[in-house]
Amino acid sequence: MAEYPPAFQELIRAFRRLPAVGPRSAERLALHLLSAEPAQSQRLAEAISRAREVIHPCPRCGFFAEGELCAICADSSRDTKVWCVVAQSSDVISMEKAGGFSGLYHVLGGRLSPLEKIGPEQLAIASLLRRIEESAPAEIILALSADVEGETTSLYLAPLIKKHGVKVSRLATGIPAGSGLEFADRVTLGYALTGRREV
Ligand SMILES: [Zn+2]
Repeated sequence: MAEYPPAFQELIRAFRRLPAVGPRSAERLALHLLSAEPAQSQRLAEAISRAREVIHPCPRCGFFAEGELCAICADSSRDTKVWCVVAQSSDVISMEKAGGFSGLYHVLGGRLSPLEKIGPEQLAIASLLRRIEESAPAEIILALSADVEGETTSLYLAPLIKKHGVKVSRLATGIPAGSGLEFADRVTLGYALTGRREV
């Protein structure tokens, strides 16, 4: 039985390691790239290496940055007194799409999960507390998911933040897990922000 040549199979395997790509999609993507204009795969390869080269976590908030700071930290029109703590960078995008928030962010890089052995030291919690000491915000909104990990993380963070005399609030409902939110979720997220409650 004939098989795809080794380099072709390696390409399929590389696609399969990506999230949400099953065996059939991986094969289709590989077939497409090998039969399309060479310039197309060239552009893809360049876009990947350029993104890896120029994008780094913002030293202040952890969101994606291309310059020294991310676009949000560098924007002087943002309200520096209200911060929103989220699990991952894609949550910043979800919050921004929902609108209604003009403050700053802090990206934790995950959520506490004893099962997955993710403790406080694996997350950007020490940097959050340091940043609070330095910049003394008035309010911090915990915008984490409503599942066990999100709840655990919120319960852990709230007293640590309040110790610094900062008001802590939580979204009325958590951020839906995962990215790629639909319009309905954006509306929900907007309400969740307006209806946030102090903890
Ligand atoms: Zn930033």
